[in-house]
Amino acid sequence: MKEVIIIGAGFSGIAAAKKLYEAKIPFIVLEARERLGGRVFTTQIKENLYLDFGGQWIGPSQDRMYALCEEFGIGYYETYNQGFNLLDLNQKVKKFKGLIPKMDIVSLINLDYVLKKLEKLAKSISLNNPWSHPKAMEFDSISLGAFVATNCKTSTCKKVVDLALETVFAAELNEVSLLHALFYIKSGRDLNTLINIKNGAQLHRIVGGMQTIIEKMAAPFKERIYFNHAVEKITQENETYQVSGKDFSYATRRIIMAIPPPLAAKIEFQPMLSSEKRQVMDRIAMGQVGKCFMVYDKPFWRDSGFSGQAFADQHSPFQSMFDTSPRNSDYGIILGFTIGQRARNYFTKTKEDRKAIMLEKLVEYFGTAAQNPLLYEDFTMTDEAWSRGCYAGIYPTGTWTGFQDSYAQTEGQIYWAGTEASKVWFGYIEGAVRSGEKAAQEIIDGIKN
Ligand SMILES: Cc1cc2nc3c(=O)[nH]c(=O)nc-3n(C[C@H](O)[C@H](O)[C@H](O)COP(=O)(O)OP(=O)(O)OC[C@H]3O[C@@H](n4cnc5c(N)ncnc54)[C@H](O)[C@@H]3O)c2cc1C
Repeated sequence: MKEVIIIGAGFSGIAAAKKLYEAKIPFIVLEARERLGGRVFTTQIKENLYLDFGGQWIGPSQDRMYALCEEFGIGYYETYNQGFNLLDLNQKVKKFKGLIPKMDIVSLINLDYVLKKLEKLAKSISLNNPWSHPKAMEFDSISLGAFVATNCKTSTCKKVVDLALETVFAAELNEVSLLHALFYIKSGRDLNTLINIKNGAQLHRIVGGMQTIIEKMAAPFKERIYFNHAVEKITQENETYQVSGKDFSYATRRIIMAIPPPLAAKIEFQPMLSSEKRQVMDRIAMGQVGKCFMVYDKPFWRDSGFSGQAFADQHSPFQSMFDTSPRNSDYGIILGFTIGQRARNYFTKTKEDRKAIMLEKLVEYFGTAAQNPLLYEDFTMTDEAWSRGCYAGIYPTGTWTGFQDSYAQTEGQIYWAGTEASKVWFGYIEGAVRSGEKAAQEIIDGIKN
């Protein structure tokens, strides 16, 4: 009989395992894939050339992530954020500096109004119970897309707001409840933090890639992680849970679920989970984003005064681009985000065509120097059986008010972790770590008392 079984070896499951290990409580981790990290996935191309196909940035107030870097002596460095950014709107590319692009004065005033309104509404939301807001029903009955369409009075303003918020949520805005958007913004401190590099969620990258952290976290108990163990069924009899899949079955007293909601919904529970939990799991849908990397022998755009950042309306497949070169600029890497419908269209094309499309954009932005990359790579977690999308689960309209926080609630001795169970930094790696540690702490407290 195992004391605890953790399902999922992403940051959340491994943060839970680390805490149990430190408390000397026996556990095993069952992981469907043959690797650690889940929605974090660093591929090493060659020395000092690595690509973070999943989560890659950390920023202020992500205290657990900085503490882990400190604990394991892992370095981090600032995202390159100097020089001119580009705005590719209505098939014209314009340079700008700072966060707000150049545009006509009416659109500029409108943009300021919309962002401030979102910020103000988000401030008024309680992270513990977003559904208790006096206007929760109103906010949860419309999408973020409807809010943007109503409040943006010029098409320029709407296009800029769309591309910025799509990059934050990794989804079409009409897929996101306004109440969920406000919760998500508050959960990540504020909108300014979420969209910014400077003092924002995109401030730092990890030397060697994000996977470095989870590998170090798991090193002391790697033999307790059973890879290629996809859990299919959980059966409870009295105080014992039987956790099984193809060719395995383990008995345990307690379970930590640390997997994305749509995958939790696929597990057969006997007896069934509460109807609230089942219904909410069926509603939370994953976002969709592809990360596309063009690798050069150096970040040549910096020499011409460009930051490498570009933001584009629907004429481009990429809502946003960033300089994602390694520290010391051994290589130059531009990362393009293709999100929602743009991603769905983009990934219907062959890889060769996708490379040609991104190359054409980069030549348009940075000139002929962009013509000779060393490499093109892209990746979308949507096509990964054990992620089914990214960055995170999204609450559509009616979900927060209908089901409140049933997703994160413990049922019997099944504890719920994963970034979607976190009130703070929901959707981010920080949220995954916090929710894993919280579930483990509850188990430790339960065993001690
Ligand atoms: C493209 C992309 C970019 C992102 N960018 C950032 C960023 O820059 N910064 C940031 O903070 N966050 C970012 N995120 C979000 C962040 O990566 C996630 O929030 C976080 O990694 C989630 O961790 P988790 O442990 O909750 O879930 P996961 O990482 O999804 O881990 C769950 C694990 O469970 C396993 N699993 C699933 N089903 C089963 C099953 N039935 N049985 C056994 N195992 C199972 C999976 O294989 C997986 O390993 C990004 C995500 C993506 C995909």
